[in-house]
Amino acid sequence: MIRNDLNNSVEEGLADLHIHTTNSDGVCTAQQVVEKAVEIGLRAISITDHDAIVGVDEAKKAAQPYDLEIIPGIELNCIEDGESVHVLGYFIDTQNTELQQHIQVLQNDRFQRAEKIILKLKNIGIKISLDLVLQKAGPGAIGRPHIAEVLLEDGYVLSFEEAFARFLGYGKPAFVQNYPITPQKGIQLIQSVGGISFLAHPQPNIIVTRLDQYVKNGLDGIEIYHPRFSEAEVCNLYNVAVDRSLLVSGGSDFHNNKKENSCVGQKSVPYQFVTAMKDKIKKLNSI
Ligand code: AMP
Ligand code: FE
Ligand code: FE
Ligand code: ZN
Repeated sequence: MIRNDLNNSVEEGLADLHIHTTNSDGVCTAQQVVEKAVEIGLRAISITDHDAIVGVDEAKKAAQPYDLEIIPGIELNCIEDGESVHVLGYFIDTQNTELQQHIQVLQNDRFQRAEKIILKLKNIGIKISLDLVLQKAGPGAIGRPHIAEVLLEDGYVLSFEEAFARFLGYGKPAFVQNYPITPQKGIQLIQSVGGISFLAHPQPNIIVTRLDQYVKNGLDGIEIYHPRFSEAEVCNLYNVAVDRSLLVSGGSDFHNNKKENSCVGQKSVPYQFVTAMKDKIKKLNSI
Protein backbone atom coordinates (compact mmCIF):
# COMPACT_ATOMS: atom_id res chain seq x y z
CA MET A 1 0.00 0.00 0.00
CA ILE A 2 2.72 2.43 0.93
CA ARG A 3 4.41 1.78 -2.42
CA ASN A 4 1.28 3.02 -4.20
CA ASP A 5 1.19 6.07 -1.97
CA LEU A 6 4.75 6.74 -3.01
CA ASN A 7 4.22 6.19 -6.73
CA ASN A 8 1.20 8.46 -6.77
CA SER A 9 3.00 11.31 -5.15
CA VAL A 10 6.43 11.51 -6.72
CA GLU A 11 5.25 14.29 -9.08
CA GLU A 12 5.56 16.82 -6.30
CA GLY A 13 9.22 16.00 -5.99
CA LEU A 14 11.39 14.10 -3.55
CA ALA A 15 13.10 14.97 -0.30
CA ASP A 16 16.03 13.39 1.55
CA LEU A 17 15.39 14.22 5.19
CA HIS A 18 18.40 12.65 6.88
CA ILE A 19 21.89 13.76 5.84
CA HIS A 20 25.17 14.19 7.75
CA THR A 21 28.00 16.55 6.82
CA THR A 22 31.56 17.18 7.98
CA ASN A 23 29.95 19.10 10.87
CA SER A 24 29.37 15.70 12.48
CA ASP A 25 30.49 12.33 11.14
CA GLY A 26 29.76 12.80 7.45
CA VAL A 27 32.50 13.06 4.83
CA CYS A 28 30.90 15.66 2.56
CA THR A 29 30.67 19.36 3.32
CA ALA A 30 27.25 20.98 3.27
CA GLN A 31 28.21 22.55 -0.07
CA GLN A 32 29.01 19.11 -1.56
CA VAL A 33 25.76 17.67 -0.22
CA VAL A 34 23.80 20.52 -1.83
CA GLU A 35 25.57 19.95 -5.15
CA LYS A 36 24.72 16.24 -5.08
CA ALA A 37 21.09 16.97 -4.21
CA VAL A 38 20.81 19.46 -7.09
CA GLU A 39 22.49 17.01 -9.48
CA ILE A 40 19.90 14.33 -8.78
CA GLY A 41 17.00 16.79 -8.80
CA LEU A 42 15.77 16.64 -5.22
CA ARG A 43 13.22 19.26 -4.19
CA ALA A 44 14.27 19.42 -0.52
CA ILE A 45 16.91 18.11 1.85
CA SER A 46 17.41 18.28 5.58
CA ILE A 47 20.86 18.50 7.10
CA THR A 48 20.64 16.47 10.30
CA ASP A 49 24.06 16.43 11.90
CA HIS A 50 24.58 14.73 15.25
CA ASP A 51 24.31 17.40 17.95
CA ALA A 52 25.30 20.14 15.47
CA ILE A 53 23.48 22.80 13.42
CA VAL A 54 26.09 24.90 11.59
CA GLY A 55 25.69 22.76 8.44
CA VAL A 56 22.14 24.06 8.06
CA ASP A 57 23.23 27.64 7.38
CA GLU A 58 26.11 26.45 5.21
CA ALA A 59 23.65 24.43 3.11
CA LYS A 60 21.21 27.36 2.88
CA LYS A 61 23.98 29.56 1.54
CA ALA A 62 25.15 26.90 -0.91
CA ALA A 63 21.58 26.34 -2.13
CA GLN A 64 20.86 29.99 -2.90
CA PRO A 65 21.49 29.71 -6.67
CA TYR A 66 19.32 26.60 -6.92
CA ASP A 67 15.74 25.53 -6.52
CA LEU A 68 16.47 23.35 -3.50
CA GLU A 69 14.74 23.77 -0.16
CA ILE A 70 16.87 23.32 2.95
CA ILE A 71 14.94 22.12 5.97
CA PRO A 72 16.76 22.95 9.19
CA GLY A 73 17.44 19.75 11.08
CA ILE A 74 19.40 18.04 13.80
CA GLU A 75 19.87 14.47 15.05
CA LEU A 76 20.10 14.49 18.83
CA ASN A 77 21.95 11.53 20.29
CA CYS A 78 19.84 10.74 23.36
CA ILE A 79 20.19 8.00 25.96
CA GLU A 80 17.51 5.76 27.43
CA ASP A 81 18.42 2.94 29.85
CA GLY A 82 22.03 3.15 28.66
CA GLU A 83 20.97 2.69 25.06
CA SER A 84 21.36 5.22 22.30
CA VAL A 85 18.10 6.66 20.92
CA HIS A 86 18.39 9.15 18.06
CA VAL A 87 15.81 11.92 17.82
CA LEU A 88 15.52 13.97 14.64
CA GLY A 89 14.34 17.57 14.85
CA TYR A 90 12.99 19.40 11.79
CA PHE A 91 12.21 23.09 11.23
CA ILE A 92 14.17 24.07 14.33
CA ASP A 93 15.19 27.69 14.79
CA THR A 94 18.96 27.42 14.36
CA GLN A 95 19.42 31.07 15.46
CA ASN A 96 17.95 30.37 18.91
CA THR A 97 20.67 31.17 21.46
CA GLU A 98 19.43 28.62 24.00
CA LEU A 99 19.69 25.90 21.37
CA GLN A 100 23.16 27.10 20.40
CA GLN A 101 24.26 27.06 24.05
CA HIS A 102 22.83 23.60 24.54
CA ILE A 103 24.67 22.34 21.48
CA GLN A 104 27.88 23.84 22.82
CA VAL A 105 27.42 21.79 26.01
CA LEU A 106 26.89 18.64 23.95
CA GLN A 107 29.95 19.32 21.80
CA ASN A 108 32.18 20.06 24.81
CA ASP A 109 31.02 16.79 26.32
CA ARG A 110 31.85 14.99 23.07
CA PHE A 111 35.40 16.32 23.29
CA GLN A 112 35.80 15.07 26.87
CA ARG A 113 34.21 11.78 25.91
CA ALA A 114 36.75 11.30 23.11
CA GLU A 115 39.54 11.83 25.66
CA LYS A 116 37.95 9.22 27.96
CA ILE A 117 37.56 6.70 25.13
CA ILE A 118 41.21 7.17 24.14
CA LEU A 119 42.24 6.62 27.77
CA LYS A 120 40.16 3.43 27.98
CA LEU A 121 41.78 2.21 24.77
CA LYS A 122 45.21 2.99 26.22
CA ASN A 123 44.35 0.90 29.30
CA ILE A 124 43.86 -2.13 27.05
CA GLY A 125 47.08 -1.51 25.15
CA ILE A 126 45.74 0.49 22.21
CA LYS A 127 47.45 3.82 21.70
CA ILE A 128 45.87 6.30 19.32
CA SER A 129 46.43 10.01 19.05
CA LEU A 130 43.80 12.52 20.13
CA ASP A 131 45.18 14.94 17.56
CA LEU A 132 44.46 12.49 14.76
CA VAL A 133 40.90 12.02 16.03
CA LEU A 134 40.44 15.80 16.16
CA GLN A 135 41.79 16.06 12.63
CA LYS A 136 39.22 13.51 11.45
CA ALA A 137 36.43 15.36 13.24
CA GLY A 138 37.41 18.70 11.72
CA PRO A 139 35.25 21.56 12.92
CA GLY A 140 32.28 19.41 13.84
CA ALA A 141 30.93 17.26 16.64
CA ILE A 142 33.46 14.55 17.55
CA GLY A 143 32.02 11.06 17.51
CA ARG A 144 32.97 7.43 17.77
CA PRO A 145 33.17 7.13 13.96
CA HIS A 146 36.20 9.45 13.99
CA ILE A 147 37.88 7.20 16.57
CA ALA A 148 36.90 4.12 14.54
CA GLU A 149 38.61 5.63 11.50
CA VAL A 150 41.86 6.14 13.40
CA LEU A 151 41.69 2.58 14.80
CA LEU A 152 41.29 1.35 11.24
CA GLU A 153 44.11 3.47 9.85
CA ASP A 154 46.45 2.43 12.67
CA GLY A 155 45.73 -1.22 11.91
CA TYR A 156 44.03 -2.13 15.19
CA VAL A 157 40.93 -3.31 13.32
CA LEU A 158 40.25 -4.51 9.81
CA SER A 159 36.98 -2.66 9.35
CA PHE A 160 35.05 0.28 10.66
CA GLU A 161 32.36 -2.08 12.02
CA GLU A 162 34.98 -4.15 13.86
CA ALA A 163 36.01 -1.03 15.79
CA PHE A 164 32.45 -0.79 17.15
CA ALA A 165 32.02 -4.54 17.64
CA ARG A 166 35.24 -4.92 19.62
CA PHE A 167 35.88 -1.59 21.33
CA LEU A 168 33.47 1.30 20.88
CA GLY A 169 29.99 -0.24 20.92
CA TYR A 170 27.67 -0.37 23.91
CA GLY A 171 29.14 -2.63 26.63
CA LYS A 172 32.54 -2.90 24.90
CA PRO A 173 35.79 -2.04 26.74
CA ALA A 174 36.17 1.51 25.40
CA PHE A 175 32.49 2.44 25.45
CA VAL A 176 31.71 5.82 26.98
CA GLN A 177 28.20 7.17 27.06
CA ASN A 178 27.17 10.39 25.38
CA TYR A 179 25.96 13.38 27.39
CA PRO A 180 22.92 11.90 29.12
CA ILE A 181 20.08 13.78 27.50
CA THR A 182 16.93 11.63 27.53
CA PRO A 183 14.66 11.33 24.47
CA GLN A 184 12.04 13.21 26.50
CA LYS A 185 14.44 16.14 26.99
CA GLY A 186 15.45 15.95 23.32
CA ILE A 187 11.81 16.14 22.23
CA GLN A 188 11.21 19.09 24.58
CA LEU A 189 14.31 20.91 23.31
CA ILE A 190 13.19 20.53 19.69
CA GLN A 191 9.68 21.68 20.60
CA SER A 192 11.04 24.70 22.48
CA VAL A 193 12.77 25.98 19.34
CA GLY A 194 9.73 25.61 17.08
CA GLY A 195 10.61 22.22 15.62
CA ILE A 196 8.93 18.85 15.34
CA SER A 197 10.57 15.63 16.50
CA PHE A 198 10.89 12.23 14.91
CA LEU A 199 12.32 8.98 16.21
CA ALA A 200 15.26 8.20 13.90
CA HIS A 201 15.67 4.70 12.43
CA PRO A 202 13.48 2.98 15.09
CA GLN A 203 14.23 -0.67 15.65
CA PRO A 204 11.61 -2.36 13.47
CA ASN A 205 10.59 -4.46 16.48
CA ILE A 206 10.24 -1.23 18.42
CA ILE A 207 9.02 -1.66 21.95
CA VAL A 208 5.63 -0.10 21.55
CA THR A 209 5.31 0.95 25.20
CA ARG A 210 8.46 3.00 24.78
CA LEU A 211 7.20 4.62 21.59
CA ASP A 212 3.89 5.44 23.26
CA GLN A 213 5.82 7.11 26.06
CA TYR A 214 7.66 9.27 23.51
CA VAL A 215 4.34 10.15 21.88
CA LYS A 216 3.07 11.29 25.31
CA ASN A 217 6.27 13.34 25.59
CA GLY A 218 5.31 15.11 22.35
CA LEU A 219 6.99 13.05 19.61
CA ASP A 220 5.52 14.02 16.24
CA GLY A 221 6.60 11.18 14.00
CA ILE A 222 8.90 8.30 13.14
CA GLU A 223 11.43 7.72 10.40
CA ILE A 224 10.14 4.87 8.26
CA TYR A 225 12.43 4.99 5.22
CA HIS A 226 16.09 4.25 5.94
CA PRO A 227 18.71 2.24 4.02
CA ARG A 228 18.71 -0.30 6.83
CA PHE A 229 15.00 -1.15 6.48
CA SER A 230 13.51 -3.78 4.21
CA GLU A 231 10.21 -3.09 2.48
CA ALA A 232 8.42 -5.27 5.01
CA GLU A 233 9.95 -3.27 7.84
CA VAL A 234 8.93 -0.01 6.18
CA CYS A 235 5.34 -1.26 5.96
CA ASN A 236 5.40 -2.35 9.57
CA LEU A 237 6.69 1.04 10.73
CA TYR A 238 4.17 2.82 8.50
CA ASN A 239 1.35 0.92 10.22
CA VAL A 240 2.83 1.72 13.63
CA ALA A 241 2.79 5.42 12.64
CA VAL A 242 -0.72 5.38 11.17
CA ASP A 243 -2.12 3.63 14.27
CA ARG A 244 -0.86 6.54 16.39
CA SER A 245 -1.57 9.37 13.94
CA LEU A 246 2.15 10.03 13.72
CA LEU A 247 3.89 11.75 10.84
CA VAL A 248 6.47 9.83 8.81
CA SER A 249 9.88 10.75 7.45
CA GLY A 250 12.85 9.15 5.80
CA GLY A 251 16.12 9.58 4.02
CA SER A 252 19.55 8.27 3.23
CA ASP A 253 21.24 8.87 6.62
CA PHE A 254 24.15 9.63 4.34
CA HIS A 255 27.54 9.70 6.10
CA ASN A 256 29.88 8.36 3.43
CA ASN A 257 29.69 5.95 0.55
CA LYS A 258 30.93 3.05 2.65
CA LYS A 259 28.25 3.05 5.32
CA GLU A 260 25.34 0.90 4.13
CA ASN A 261 26.35 2.02 0.61
CA SER A 262 24.20 5.05 1.14
CA CYS A 263 24.28 8.16 -1.01
CA VAL A 264 22.38 11.44 -1.04
CA GLY A 265 18.88 10.77 -2.37
CA GLN A 266 18.71 7.11 -1.37
CA LYS A 267 15.38 6.34 0.30
CA SER A 268 14.16 9.83 -0.38
CA VAL A 269 10.52 10.47 0.39
CA PRO A 270 7.69 12.22 -1.43
CA TYR A 271 7.58 15.97 -0.79
CA GLN A 272 4.12 15.40 0.71
CA PHE A 273 5.88 14.21 3.87
CA VAL A 274 7.34 17.72 4.17
CA THR A 275 3.97 19.34 3.47
CA ALA A 276 2.45 17.24 6.28
CA MET A 277 5.19 18.49 8.63
CA LYS A 278 4.52 22.11 7.68
CA ASP A 279 0.77 21.61 8.18
CA LYS A 280 1.39 20.22 11.65
CA ILE A 281 3.64 23.16 12.57
CA LYS A 282 0.98 25.61 11.34
CA LYS A 283 -1.60 23.79 13.43
CA LEU A 284 0.64 23.85 16.52
CA ASN A 285 1.30 27.55 16.05
CA SER A 286 -2.39 28.35 15.77
CA ILE A 287 -3.25 26.70 19.09
P1 AMP B 1 28.39 8.77 18.63
O1 AMP B 1 27.51 9.92 18.21
O2 AMP B 1 29.78 9.20 18.90
O3 AMP B 1 27.81 7.93 19.73
O4 AMP B 1 28.45 7.82 17.35
C1 AMP B 1 27.25 7.36 16.81
C2 AMP B 1 27.45 7.12 15.34
O5 AMP B 1 28.38 6.06 15.18
C3 AMP B 1 26.19 6.64 14.64
O6 AMP B 1 25.41 7.70 14.19
C4 AMP B 1 26.77 5.88 13.49
O7 AMP B 1 27.16 6.80 12.48
C5 AMP B 1 28.02 5.27 14.07
N1 AMP B 1 27.84 3.89 14.58
C6 AMP B 1 27.26 3.50 15.73
N2 AMP B 1 27.31 2.16 15.87
C7 AMP B 1 27.93 1.68 14.78
C8 AMP B 1 28.29 0.38 14.31
N3 AMP B 1 28.02 -0.70 15.04
N4 AMP B 1 28.92 0.28 13.13
C9 AMP B 1 29.20 1.38 12.40
N5 AMP B 1 28.90 2.63 12.78
C10 AMP B 1 28.27 2.79 13.94
FE1 FE C 1 26.39 9.09 12.48
FE1 FE D 1 21.23 8.00 13.76
ZN1 ZN E 1 22.00 9.92 11.17
